Amino acid sequence: MKLKLASSYGFCFGVKRAITIAESYTNSATMGPLIHNQNEITRLKDDYNIGLYNKLDDVQDKDTVIIRTHGIPKNDLKELKQKDAKVINATCPFVTTPQQIVKKMSTENYSIVIFGDETHPEVKGVKSYGDDVHVVLEPEEFEKIIFKHEKIATVAQTTKKKEKYLEIVNFLILKYKEVRVFNTICDATFENQAAARELSKEVDVMIVIGGKNSSNTKQLHDICVENCEDSYLIENHNELDFSWFSKKEICGITAGASTPDWIIQQVIDEIQKI
Ligand code: SF4
Repeated sequence: MKLKLASSYGFCFGVKRAITIAESYTNSATMGPLIHNQNEITRLKDDYNIGLYNKLDDVQDKDTVIIRTHGIPKNDLKELKQKDAKVINATCPFVTTPQQIVKKMSTENYSIVIFGDETHPEVKGVKSYGDDVHVVLEPEEFEKIIFKHEKIATVAQTTKKKEKYLEIVNFLILKYKEVRVFNTICDATFENQAAARELSKEVDVMIVIGGKNSSNTKQLHDICVENCEDSYLIENHNELDFSWFSKKEICGITAGASTPDWIIQQVIDEIQKI
């Protein structure tokens, strides 16, 4: 089996940074999963005794608590700071940016539109920084929305597609006199996507490695399926099914922005045995 790696894949700047921060605080805990990759979270637990809190009530006095890469809602951060805990902020700076934009634009009486997934932790965090904030994925959703202000400011979830964001922006510009558009989409995701798109056109089977709850990994998989229907999303080498490679010659590999190199290497080693 011939293997080809995407020209850009795997850990992004924000995830590398969060892991480096976490590794310098042994015996601490993260507020929510630090990144969207269970294997890496297990490694941090095993090697550094970094635990995981899912709710604020779990935090004890004197704990060291690390804020996840995707950030947390403003009030949660405030409450955490009020506890007698040491708070370490590992929020990716590219996520802090839309939080700050939403805060500033809200104080300037703009209604806010976030293009993103309402249930995603990053979006929940960004939303918490404004007053009149509406989260949409499709332009049709504006039919049900009544804005409090006449001026609109818009940001996007960092992992969203730019083309789709343009549809949202187009809709707003046609309807409102003042629309401030902030391009908060992260290029790290975009580079991995462009590389996956190119590679998936050249191969017979494509393996996408990453967390199944990771939005950017799912998007990579969607892009690959468009060009190579035999594209599979796996979290680690144990999920490989050798029947996928039957009668195939070239296998492409890419990985989501939260996937560590050691997991990618294990997958490569396993496929090379074929
Ligand atoms: S994908 Fe971009 S925004 Fe998200 S953590 Fe990585 S660098 Fe930060």
